[in-house]
Amino acid sequence: MKNISILGATGSIGQNTLDLISRDRQKFKVVGLTGASNIELLAESAIKFKADVVATANDSKFHDLKEMLSGHQIEVCAGKNGVLEVASRQADWVMSSIVGSAGLLPGLKALEVGSNLALANKESMVAAGPIMKRMAKAKGVKLMPVDSEHSAISQVIRGEERSSLSKIIITASGGAFRDLTKADLIGVTPDQASMHPNWTMGQRITIDSASLFNKALEVIEAKELFDLSISEIEVLIHPQSLVHAIACFCDGGMKAHIGPPDMRHAIAYALYEEKRFNLPVDEVNLSEIGTLDFEKPDLSKYPALRLGFDVLQQGGLAGAAFNAAKEEALDNFLDYKLSFLGMADIVRATMEELTSKNLLSSEVELEAVIEIDLQARSVAKTFVEKI
Ligand code: NAD
Ligand code: MG
Repeated sequence: MKNISILGATGSIGQNTLDLISRDRQKFKVVGLTGASNIELLAESAIKFKADVVATANDSKFHDLKEMLSGHQIEVCAGKNGVLEVASRQADWVMSSIVGSAGLLPGLKALEVGSNLALANKESMVAAGPIMKRMAKAKGVKLMPVDSEHSAISQVIRGEERSSLSKIIITASGGAFRDLTKADLIGVTPDQASMHPNWTMGQRITIDSASLFNKALEVIEAKELFDLSISEIEVLIHPQSLVHAIACFCDGGMKAHIGPPDMRHAIAYALYEEKRFNLPVDEVNLSEIGTLDFEKPDLSKYPALRLGFDVLQQGGLAGAAFNAAKEEALDNFLDYKLSFLGMADIVRATMEELTSKNLLSSEVELEAVIEIDLQARSVAKTFVEKI
């Protein structure tokens, strides 16, 4: 029996993880689940999976959640500390699927208490990859990729020698607006950006997929997870979203990972620790699909991707600042205070400002990451107010 906790259990990744657990119930015991405002789904999941402890990140929902769970032997916590409390219950496997930088401290806490961590929350690797890796190493636990591209990378490099790897190609679907020109992107709304052609995901990652901020984060995540240098990572637009990553080797050979656009494939690969589990996913019918297309991304249409490569080059605290500025820009886009293309302008201006003040070159330590996160949000906010 494997003890499992899910940080961000009410989201798209969290619910997909519970779906897998529901198919193999006798193998898993659910220890803790966390959510935020959707306490109905949190309570329903906690009862269904007989969790020991639950937390809502939203303090004001504590009493309602407690009432929903009255009569059940389930401990209830709330607020940031409540989420950390759940993360601090040691488990064999913890899914880190809170969205955004809010996932950093809970993920780190899970590692600290000796739990293996499945990483959907890419933001924690972007902001604090070296800290996460140091903690995992110190505690002798695993960091397992869940992002589909990173799961794919782990699958194609498995059994290969690092020295024979020359490059990793990460694919990007191009998101909601891949067929639009840069001129068409002026004036697109949050609702339009929230519709992904191939994947069903939370709203924030869906919009980040349309701007390619998601791909920028993934490039940095790949560098951290697989110790790649900037020249070893390439991004190609692949509209079919079937090839998730390709490893290129020194002898000219390439290994591509093809999988259905269903996150349960990548989650299961982490959950079963690289063993394959029989999943009810749609078969990829290659003869029906016929063609797989790949093209270089137009960096003038996708300035976010260029910024991501700049961050790779810069290192230090650039990842933490980039992610925080991106989150602030996205909040403002969702509030109709910033245009779709304006998001990259704000992030670029924020990065230039922080770089000019030499604030990004420090060592990646937790206090510095938290401090630069706050500073980047505040600088980004100032730039938005000037518009
Ligand atoms: P989602 O919006 O569907 O779910 C987010 C979860 O985080 C919910 O459980 C929510 O309650 C919780 N949450 C939100 N704000 C919180 C806060 N301040 N404190 C604590 N908990 C909070 O998001 P998602 O699509 O499931 O994505 C989750 C993470 O996985 C993100 O980092 C995303 O980039 C990554 N990811 C998602 C997919 C996907 O297919 N959905 C694929 C790859 C990676
Ligand atoms: Mg991805």
